[in-house]
Amino acid sequence: MSAEEASKTSNFIRHIIDGDIAANKNNGRVATRFPPEPNGYLHIGHAKSIVLNFGIAQDYQGTCNLRFDDTNPHKENIDFVEAIQNDVRWLGYDWDDRLYFASDYFEQLYEFAVELIKNGKAYVCDLNAEQTREYRGTLKEPGRNSPNRDRSVEENLDLFERMRKGEFKDGDRVLRAKIDMASPNMNMRDPTLYRIRHGVVHHQTGSEWCLYPMYDFTHPISDALEGITHSICTLEFEDHRPLYDWVLDNISIDCHPQQIEFSRLNLQYTVMSKRKLTELVNDGYVEGWDDPRMPTIAGLRRRGYTPAAIREFCERIGVSRADNSVEMGMLESAIRDDLNVTAPRRMAVLHPLKVIIENYPEDQVEELDAANHPQDESMGSRKIPFAREIYIDQEDFREEANKKFKRLVAGGEVRLRNAYVIRCDEVIKNEQGDIIELRCSYDPDTLGANPEGRKVKGVIHWVSARHAIEAEVRMYDRLFNHPTPDDGKDGIDYKSRMNPDSLHTLSYCYLELALADAKPGERFQFEREGYFCKDIMQAGDKPVFNLTVGLRDSWAKISLES
Ligand code: ATP
Ligand code: MG
Repeated sequence: MSAEEASKTSNFIRHIIDGDIAANKNNGRVATRFPPEPNGYLHIGHAKSIVLNFGIAQDYQGTCNLRFDDTNPHKENIDFVEAIQNDVRWLGYDWDDRLYFASDYFEQLYEFAVELIKNGKAYVCDLNAEQTREYRGTLKEPGRNSPNRDRSVEENLDLFERMRKGEFKDGDRVLRAKIDMASPNMNMRDPTLYRIRHGVVHHQTGSEWCLYPMYDFTHPISDALEGITHSICTLEFEDHRPLYDWVLDNISIDCHPQQIEFSRLNLQYTVMSKRKLTELVNDGYVEGWDDPRMPTIAGLRRRGYTPAAIREFCERIGVSRADNSVEMGMLESAIRDDLNVTAPRRMAVLHPLKVIIENYPEDQVEELDAANHPQDESMGSRKIPFAREIYIDQEDFREEANKKFKRLVAGGEVRLRNAYVIRCDEVIKNEQGDIIELRCSYDPDTLGANPEGRKVKGVIHWVSARHAIEAEVRMYDRLFNHPTPDDGKDGIDYKSRMNPDSLHTLSYCYLELALADAKPGERFQFEREGYFCKDIMQAGDKPVFNLTVGLRDSWAKISLES
């Protein structure tokens, strides 16, 4: 399925939109938005929302805005603003000239707040945080009205203006909506609309404001100002919808977007909360936001994931209102399916064992042909040098083995991929008894031909020692060894469930010569090993390759065996 076909997969939100178009609601217009808070990098859960919002805009000839929900300046910064734009673009989406910041609307939001005050729908409240909590009541008990609830409009206007001018300290006063302290929905018990925050420099508005609007006030108005038709968000905002609607119903604005909630993506063996991802980065549990083990878009990119595979994953998991936890294997099979088709094949020896082919002339080098893809001729072929000394993988040799081991054993034969059949004549060991070298002989009649009178079943990969490129290969595994690391059960901290073996560095690997030209971000299948991506960094003067995903799902195998 191509990305375009995939994005047509229907879901309940698309059904709602189909109905709205049929009823000519919004004159058939469809406008969505993706509203990240710039307080961290985007992760795979955000990708679900991006694919949904931008995908709908594409398929309905509508628009999707990128809007930064930047009302929490002490946690946000410009680096995140840039990284988020970069990641959305990389995923394949474009917002044209519709890049917005909620902070663009601060002045308008202030005016709407003044309108609410004038209509007796909002008031300045002097209760401190603890008193406010106490007055709010509980799920079982109604709240109590703030002593300031019946302040006059004039007094409220005066105080609100002075809040803006900076006359009061943080926490001294807030602006609250006047709704219903007895509402069964806690969000409707006179929610805070504005709070005072001194001393923060906002990445967009600098020091202009010390008064910041709350998300529940900002979001519906931002949506309406941009003419959004369908405001799609995750299920935890369902209980906020009455407030979303209340805000728009009580100010003079003639657009009322429809809020629709869907269930967020939870992915097993990882965490997705930005607070926790920030902690992993800041406390050095990972190398950074783009550490290839992170569930961030930047991490997945560095790991070797393609935008197409991430979009395909988002289509495969679907969109619903059901709580769900998606297996990591789903994400891995999306990239495996993509790279199986698109990644050129190469040979790389990860645990080298020297082999000397004693009957091969010392100064001879042959340039052998190797197809770049076994099923796709259009990917062409390359030359690989063959010479007397080669490396094979330690795992492909055993002194003795039963018939199931279809690789090289002492005295046995094996085919070298794209080359000849060799036989192991002698095993050389060091003083500790470790195998350090094999002495072999080759059969010159076996290039592209079966040997005479005998069957050789096994095929192994290899590289010419003289021509090989030394490289560092980083083998990654899941960052956590528990499927739901942050379930909080038994009071266990998610950090104690980190997988101590999530990174295994192989510092002395040998790659075939063709990989010398690989560019950072380029992806390959290392035959019989897995899919790998050239990293953006070097290790000293060695190139670094990251394991994207193995050829098969090794976790599925483990759980079957155990
Ligand atoms: P966190 O709770 O970790 O801080 P967030 O939801 O506040 O994350 P935002 O930057 O506000 O992060 O999210 C931007 C958009 O992405 C929102 O519309 C949000 O609903 C959506 N989103 C965030 N996480 C997920 C997820 N796991 N699955 C689907 N959508 C998500
Ligand atoms: Mg948020």
